[in-house]
Amino acid sequence: MITRFAPSPTGRLHLGHAYSALLAWQWAQEAKGRFLLRFEDIDHTRVREEFYEGIEVDLDWLGMSWETPAWRQLNRLANYERALEQLRAMGLLYRCFCTRKDLMRMDAPQEGEGSALYPGFCRHLTDEEVAEKLAKKIPYCWRLRSDLAGERVGPLQFVDKRFGSLDVRPELLGDVVVARKDIATSYHLAVVVDDAAQEVSHIVRGEDLLESTHIHRILQELLGFPEPEYWHHELVVDGEGKRLAKRHDALAIATLREEGASREEVWERALSQVRQETGLRP
Ligand code: GLU
Repeated sequence: MITRFAPSPTGRLHLGHAYSALLAWQWAQEAKGRFLLRFEDIDHTRVREEFYEGIEVDLDWLGMSWETPAWRQLNRLANYERALEQLRAMGLLYRCFCTRKDLMRMDAPQEGEGSALYPGFCRHLTDEEVAEKLAKKIPYCWRLRSDLAGERVGPLQFVDKRFGSLDVRPELLGDVVVARKDIATSYHLAVVVDDAAQEVSHIVRGEDLLESTHIHRILQELLGFPEPEYWHHELVVDGEGKRLAKRHDALAIATLREEGASREEVWERALSQVRQETGLRP
């Protein structure tokens, strides 16, 4: 068994991250498996060296150990490029020139952190229209034809520790971006390529990413990767029931530590803020 914790070094870890890391770490411990740390840093304009370091300091303080050096996705762009090429060769990708403003005008429903369910406008561009936009140097991203991709792989399932066996529904996230305008990959592509490359067998992450898994299973199948098991855990929320985010600096592990909290207290707080999903203890 191999599990991993895959934070983005764009801020400090908070109780929600601690919870996620704890579940993954403990799951691997119980099975005498391996635990990996991977920095998902493709959001390159927002990452800062101090956040990579801070994450390692926090995890170490929480009592976890991982195989070093932790992978950084920014070192792996050539691997994503190869996967992208494979998908392109299957005829499953198209260029999308839409801007954020265009998407808002199309009233594309917003999902999660601003990734909209794309209505497929650029799917229908003719070769001439594409050539014209390329000549004008309009920036573009690459999107997956989720319908064709779904047809190509046929009916699929995935198994989740909480939700059981779920049927994959490509339409849940629609034509996701697989290569952004600013960097030739996206969360969806990089996470699938890396989990396969690191042979991660059990993926632990927040239930806010459950819909993404539908697309990840399709990408895994297209790229010939093995199927991992999943555990989409409940999210740690604040006093108002809102999921934790960077703005919750008071609940950052580093803040709690500086205020004198012990490791056990932090574990306890992370665990007590979610419904009784697990009997795990550090
Ligand atoms: N990098 C993602 C995050 O920080 C985690 C993605 C995953 O675990 O698949 O939310």
